[in-house]
Amino acid sequence: MSLLIRNGRVLDPAAGVDEVQDLLITEGRIARIGKGLKAPTGARTVDATGKVVCPGFIDIHTHLREPGYEYKETIASGTRAAAAGGFTAVCCMANTFPVNDNRAVTDYILAKARVEGVVRVYPIGAVTRNLEGSQLAELAEQAEAGCVAFSDDGKCVMNAEIYRRAMEYSLPFGTPIISHAEDCHLARDAVMNEGLVSTELGLSGEPAAAEEVMVARDIVLAELTGAHVHIAHLSTAGAVRMMREAKARGVRVTTEATPHHLLLTDEAVRSWDPNTKMAPPLRTKRDVEALREALADGTIDCVATDHAPHALAEKEDEFPEAADGIVGLETAVSLLLDRLVRPGIVDLPTLVTRLSSGPARVLNLPGGSLAPGAAADLTILDLEQPWTVDPIRFRSRSRNTPFGGWTGTGAPWMTIVGGVPVAP
Ligand SMILES: [Zn+2]
Repeated sequence: MSLLIRNGRVLDPAAGVDEVQDLLITEGRIARIGKGLKAPTGARTVDATGKVVCPGFIDIHTHLREPGYEYKETIASGTRAAAAGGFTAVCCMANTFPVNDNRAVTDYILAKARVEGVVRVYPIGAVTRNLEGSQLAELAEQAEAGCVAFSDDGKCVMNAEIYRRAMEYSLPFGTPIISHAEDCHLARDAVMNEGLVSTELGLSGEPAAAEEVMVARDIVLAELTGAHVHIAHLSTAGAVRMMREAKARGVRVTTEATPHHLLLTDEAVRSWDPNTKMAPPLRTKRDVEALREALADGTIDCVATDHAPHALAEKEDEFPEAADGIVGLETAVSLLLDRLVRPGIVDLPTLVTRLSSGPARVLNLPGGSLAPGAAADLTILDLEQPWTVDPIRFRSRSRNTPFGGWTGTGAPWMTIVGGVPVAP
């Protein structure tokens, strides 16, 4: 029942720890961290020489697709994809079928996750019934059942009065509202970012303003209600500027960025690869630069994958008809280690923070640090591991990624949940 991780670089930015040490796990919890720890009798030992031992990574934006869309992903396959990608916990969005807008669906997800999941699963409940944007879902009941946040993600709640009431209702439970900030009228029929590239390709574009008007509204509503509003997948320089300003004024707003919005621009759409189609769309170089700066300075609280599995047929259509979104759990950490940490755009402790204590703090989740007594959720990295993205080898049921064939160095090496290695 014990596991001794020997000689790794223990990196726990939240606790100010960055030193080569041993870490002893007993009965699923972190027992001790120190030099020259002795393995108790019967303990398994892992030699982590040259590896980096971090608090378990948490993805607060995953679409697990179960119930209802098991052909895209299941709780079993999605949590295995998470483990393979270095995540020890995921928060799953409510746009399943039926929608997670009541206690029965929340209970179902949690029961399935207990039996078939290999990482921790925290459900996110819908804000409105059936994601229709007109009547509030059963927020109190869902919070009691275990929903850690509320979101109609995939859709923007366009009615500001309903959104205000959702924020006020959520206040007593301290449950954040996660906003898919995209004005559906400004985004109507758009298939990519509006700009030079959309004009040249002859595709209808969505202006940055579609996101920015909603980020502005949600900041105003957070200020009005005092509720905690989290903006999902921030993608524009203007939205970054508004978030920075709102945070400086003390408004209770937080935000996340996805690996694809941090690494790709709308230039990628020139490939006509349907895997470059997502909502919000890939933006411009200026937007990517603003996001990277905000990730480094903490305006962006965490990285989130927006893992959105789709079957091949849904992504095979002509570009304008293809489904939005890409899978992200199995590529996020490797991509960011190679493309942001290796060139020095973001340092390793900062990236680890945005993947562990950052998301834990945003959704008030356990984890994010390696304090003795805490559940032993760990992500161990090998910064020298070369990799090639091969979608055929994904544990996810879906393969929709624009990163197939990409190569790099630095990857998750072992994922441990409650003291048990769940990957490789
Ligand atoms: Zn979304």
